Amino acid sequence: MLFKLRFQADDGKERRAFIDSLMLNWEVVSEDEKRLLRDHLLASTPGLKKLEDENWFKVDWTRVPELVEHRTVLLRKGKAYVPMREQTSMIMTEFTARLEKGLELTSRALPRLDEDDRLTPILNHLSKSFTTPDAAFSDSDASLHGAPINAANIDNLSQHFPLCMKHLHNTLRKNSHLKHYGRLQYTLFLKGIGLSLEDCLIFWRQSFKLITDDTFNKEYRYNVRHAYGDVGGDTNRRGRGYSPYSCQKILTEHPPGTGEAHGCPYRHFSVDNLTSMLQATGVHDREVLRGVKEDVEKNRYHIACNRVFEWAHKNEIKKVKDDGSWGSAELDTIVHPNTYFKRSYLLKNLGKVPKGDVRIED
Ligand code: SF4
Repeated sequence: MLFKLRFQADDGKERRAFIDSLMLNWEVVSEDEKRLLRDHLLASTPGLKKLEDENWFKVDWTRVPELVEHRTVLLRKGKAYVPMREQTSMIMTEFTARLEKGLELTSRALPRLDEDDRLTPILNHLSKSFTTPDAAFSDSDASLHGAPINAANIDNLSQHFPLCMKHLHNTLRKNSHLKHYGRLQYTLFLKGIGLSLEDCLIFWRQSFKLITDDTFNKEYRYNVRHAYGDVGGDTNRRGRGYSPYSCQKILTEHPPGTGEAHGCPYRHFSVDNLTSMLQATGVHDREVLRGVKEDVEKNRYHIACNRVFEWAHKNEIKKVKDDGSWGSAELDTIVHPNTYFKRSYLLKNLGKVPKGDVRIED
């Protein structure tokens, strides 16, 4: 992710120089070949109208599995014809391959590093910290223009929530209460989907059915306002409040204790409980449930979550891929609960809500 960010921040000249320095041996498709494959190239490049508007590289297809998976490249005689616009994806794949190779070499060298008390703790820390790539959140991520995001509609909107937030929502409905970290995780998520502070206060007040107004005002109102940055000191990002939690934060910080509902079900539930919850939310496909189990056993929690998302939205994803209205970057791996919500909402309301930027920026 750091690499991607740095690469995208470079200007065109710097990128060109960097790519040249890698000596990747990419073959640029000649004008003659372009003309020869005209129809195939046009058909395999979503959104492209004129052949002259694009150039292609020819590479072994194994170097761009992501593009092959999303069917955005022409495959011919073992080669993938990659449009220039997908350059970032290719560089990322190349970088990932080199990084993995480097990590493998490092892991082989690790036993020899045992006596080095400087490096080993750093490597141990690294291996535990990066359960998923992290994602930051910016205000524009909340924008879903025209969508009915208000206190009265949260039950309805919860069909688009990822499992972590569905669990919080269901627990809140069942107990009319959530403990501290659950309230914080859920409040920030609701803020992230675009719920106003006023509506968020109404939502919590109505949800906490068993307490009086007085108790709510004394014990809970301040925390909601604080999360929104309406009150609080300078650690509170100068009035903007805290950012909604990313998957990485939810997966790695404050594991839930007894009676707490925050965290990520893929990580913090037993496999049996996770399966029951998935079934209760309508996931009955055996293949999906088996895949989730495998992912979870390999600690690939967010991959399990993406697997469920892709299954639940398979028809819509096929549609936007087929008509080329969404690019592969807009369907890349979800690493933030708010991306899950926004993408789910947009896919299930295709044509009704302006798409805007679908991703939470990495
Ligand atoms: Fe939520 Fe992320 Fe876990 Fe999915 S992977 S349930 S979005 S924390």
